[in-house]
Amino acid sequence: MALDNVKCNVSNCRYWEQEHCTASAIEVNVDDGGNRADRFEKTNCRTFEDQ
Ligand code: SF4
Repeated sequence: MALDNVKCNVSNCRYWEQEHCTASAIEVNVDDGGNRADRFEKTNCRTFEDQ
């Protein structure tokens, strides 16, 4: 079952299904550490797993 209202474009993640995430929960971090991102490109999903 997909996480409600979470759209994802990482199509090679094992949890990805038709632009939605099927993980039970996700963790998102800032690329270079810390807790503030300048823009969305600097964020990433730590729950990602390659297929
Ligand atoms: S775990 Fe992260 S990268 Fe994978 S589908 Fe879900 S939101 Fe996308």
